[in-house]
Amino acid sequence: MVLAQLGGSISRALQQMSNATIIDEKVLNDCLNEITRALLQADVQFKLVRDMSTNIKKIVNLEDLAAGHNKRRIIQQAVYNELCKILDPGKPSFTLKKGKPSVVMFVGLQGSGKTTTCTKYAYHHQKKGWKPALVCADTFRAGAFDQLKQNATKAKIPFYGSYTESDPVKIAVDGVETFKKENCDLIIVDTSGRHKQEAALFEEMRQVSEATKPDLVIFVMDSSIGQAAFDQAQAFRQSVAVGAVIVTKMDGHAKGGGALSAVAATKSPVIFIGTGEHMDEFEVFDVKPFVSRLLGMGDLSGLVNKIQDVVPMDQQPELLQKLSEGQFTLRIMYEQFQNMLKMGPLGQVFSMLPGFSAEMMPKGREKESQAKFKRYMTMMDSMTNEGNTNPKIMTESRIMRIARGSGRLVHEVMEMLEEYKRLAKIFSKMKGLKIPKKGDMSSL
Ligand code: GDP
Repeated sequence: MVLAQLGGSISRALQQMSNATIIDEKVLNDCLNEITRALLQADVQFKLVRDMSTNIKKIVNLEDLAAGHNKRRIIQQAVYNELCKILDPGKPSFTLKKGKPSVVMFVGLQGSGKTTTCTKYAYHHQKKGWKPALVCADTFRAGAFDQLKQNATKAKIPFYGSYTESDPVKIAVDGVETFKKENCDLIIVDTSGRHKQEAALFEEMRQVSEATKPDLVIFVMDSSIGQAAFDQAQAFRQSVAVGAVIVTKMDGHAKGGGALSAVAATKSPVIFIGTGEHMDEFEVFDVKPFVSRLLGMGDLSGLVNKIQDVVPMDQQPELLQKLSEGQFTLRIMYEQFQNMLKMGPLGQVFSMLPGFSAEMMPKGREKESQAKFKRYMTMMDSMTNEGNTNPKIMTESRIMRIARGSGRLVHEVMEMLEEYKRLAKIFSKMKGLKIPKKGDMSSL
């Protein structure tokens, strides 16, 4: 889902390389050229891309690799390591502590998604047992308080703001005091944004910061600006003590990779990414699982976290049980498709599976994916009707019967069976997944 296009291009390049009978200099160069092109298209800085390619060539010295070596794996690992290096922004020095109220101040330009992100951040922590509250100290933009109020109400998070007070510092201080008295342990202050990085914006930020003494300042930026993120992140860092960054609109923006790598180059820790307008379209950013997913290698820890976030509590054990058994039957496939059709967020769950989401649930093309699932399900129904759901016993005449029974074409039945095989392979990797005790997902 996130950066699906970039990830798709890179994994395709790796796949093409592994399809080659012999991996020689030319095949490796072709693969690296493809990867380079994809990264440049995502607006990753040229120097970073060139260094990455040089480093990979240094690591993967084809002549030194004996015939027995799995060259594909070594190359894939080198690509993975280099991408991690480019995207690693370092770890934040501050983490929230329970039992003590933390004040977190959000800064960023107008339109970056700051107000939306404040609520997403609050909601994320609320689900994990924190007691968040929102303060709207944005007196610059008309309607800012209404927007925050609306979001907060939807998420059932207490909020503070004023329609009449024009001093953002006063609102921020009053809001923080109010929520400290109410024993909130995460007080989030949304500040004004402007169109440009102008002096007045930075001055106001400094004043609010001085008055509320935040434990953490989070800079929110829009990923669509690509590598220009470097200058923006530097400018904010120089004006206020930015402790962490959240990069928004990673869905559907071709330049997301460029933005992430540019922020990483400023060594500002990225803690979350925004992946849509909705409250739960928000992900913890952790570079290794992120790159792993980008390359279609899956992200099992992310998967379990996502199940915890989006699947209703009572359905979690069953889904995890199925995943952990690694036994993937057509019935399970049918049920999972049913789930996906019923509850959209499961698309997010499955995006964590190796090789699953980018093609199965492309963002913006949900309707097509849904039609495909429905088509597959009709064919599976037809298999059930003829009393045999074992996809392993598949003769030509059976395939034709299934096609006839479901009113679909033979090649569509074959496509469905291929999909099943692909998923069964993926699910077999889930075997042994640790299942949390009922109601206790935190042990994972
Ligand atoms: P602010 O001016 O910085 O407070 O920005 P807002 O929170 O008002 O967001 C500006 C627009 O960006 C709104 O339409 C949001 O719904 C949208 N937005 C925020 N975050 C994301 C995201 O991660 N993905 C997408 N697609 N839209 C987002």
